[in-house]
Amino acid sequence: MSGAQPASREGAIPGERERKAAAVMTIVFFIIGLSVILSYDWGAPTPQFRPDAGLVILLGILISAIIYIAARYAATGPGAFGMGLRFCPECGRQIRFDATVCPYCNRPLP
Ligand SMILES: [Zn+2]
Repeated sequence: MSGAQPASREGAIPGERERKAAAVMTIVFFIIGLSVILSYDWGAPTPQFRPDAGLVILLGILISAIIYIAARYAATGPGAFGMGLRFCPECGRQIRFDATVCPYCNRPLP
């Protein structure tokens, strides 16, 4: 996999975060595009924007903004490698986010 592409950016690791960010951006643009399509009145003889087009587009932008902010927050939150990881409060080691018991010290987790 690595080595096939020219290293345009210095030391850029094509890691989990980058792929997640790309996926989030795809979802964001998809929702904005969908809201524009939905705000269009395709049934009319000459396709035109619905009277409530602004509201639909606003809603789409709002939803995508929430997804984007939530994804950014999750990426910078506990677990430096993005979603799915956190640290055990007892031994401080990195564990799965959905773990109920620490695999290292067997401490029950909330
Ligand atoms: Zn632990």
